[in-house]
Amino acid sequence: MFGDDFTQLTLFITGPTWLRDPVRQACTLPEFGHRDAENAKRFEPALRNLRALANLDPDDKDWDVLIANGSGTTAMEACIRSLAAESETVLNVSVGAFGDLFHTLAQVNGKKAEQLRFESGETVDMALLEYALQEHSPAVMTCTHNETSTGVVNDIEEMCRLARRYGVLPVVDGVSIFGGGPANLAGVQPGAYATATQKALGLPAGFGVLFVHKSAEEKAQKVANRGYGSDILKLLSSARKQQTLTTPNCALANQLAVQLDYIVNEEGVHNRFDRHERLRSLTAEWVGQQKGLELLAPANHRSPTLTAVKAPEGTTVQQLKDLKERMRARGYLFDPGYGKLNAGLEAEHKPVCFRIGHMGDVTEEMLSEYLQQLEEELKSL
Ligand SMILES: *Cc1c(COP(=O)(O)O)cnc(C)c1O
Repeated sequence: MFGDDFTQLTLFITGPTWLRDPVRQACTLPEFGHRDAENAKRFEPALRNLRALANLDPDDKDWDVLIANGSGTTAMEACIRSLAAESETVLNVSVGAFGDLFHTLAQVNGKKAEQLRFESGETVDMALLEYALQEHSPAVMTCTHNETSTGVVNDIEEMCRLARRYGVLPVVDGVSIFGGGPANLAGVQPGAYATATQKALGLPAGFGVLFVHKSAEEKAQKVANRGYGSDILKLLSSARKQQTLTTPNCALANQLAVQLDYIVNEEGVHNRFDRHERLRSLTAEWVGQQKGLELLAPANHRSPTLTAVKAPEGTTVQQLKDLKERMRARGYLFDPGYGKLNAGLEAEHKPVCFRIGHMGDVTEEMLSEYLQQLEEELKSL
């Protein structure tokens, strides 16, 4: 059979992530018509459980959640297209490659884009953010909750509060943390919060998820040229019928319903977040025990879903790629670091980084076993 060529690897990359068996099997549940009553059997509980994961009160009318065909980037681009008018400035706050992605999205969609960029591995300096908000008078600020290239978590509550104080609509990329750590949207008060299925939610890729506050919906009503698939108002009106704007992947919709029910009603949201914190601690402790390894992210800003690790002095990108192949032989997919970041670090003769993805449904036992195997391979670096 064709599939016999496919190797079963346990993924410890930063997305897509390892899938539980019940998630894999859920894609064999019945296909359905997306404008039929069967559709809501999947999307009604899925949307309700997404709200629970964001700690939103079921009756909180200020918030909506929608599902868009595509991925995290689709949801991010919908925010750029729908929330910033042509003449308005978008301030993109970046601490790495995914913050840069938001800047690119603003640029290629013809917005006036300004960037406040911090060094990779750093977090956002609030005084500099305040200065940039004053200097550029943006209409929209984008930021990254969890920077996947460096494993840095930003204080989005503080950032959104600052933006709101200047009358700026904050938009948050929560792609690699939602489902693995608290988003607390009612407290944080972003205008919109984007995520995707294939990271901490423990599902295959294929849907972007977007939480929309009423302030953002009101703003979108005043923005022209929102596109079609990127129009938050069109996406919202479908979501209010528990539907998607365009035909969804039915297999993924089945998996989404099954997995979100598991997360909210079986594992429990708090247990899930606690488990991710334990995975972070376990990884940090292990790094501390390894000679020559160091954590990239500063204390108190370390991600619960992934850890970036500085490799021993003198390690090359090629050596990390070789390490990846040796881990493959052990049945794992190792993450040799974010390509562009490592190319830059290597050119500057700084230590290169590898990453350990510990998001979704990875257990402490799985992670411990992985780290033990990695430790053996690291000896030959
Ligand atoms: C993965 C990722 C993205 C891109 O998401 P896609 O689903 O691949 O479009 C954006 N932002 C962050 C922080 C990510 O980790």
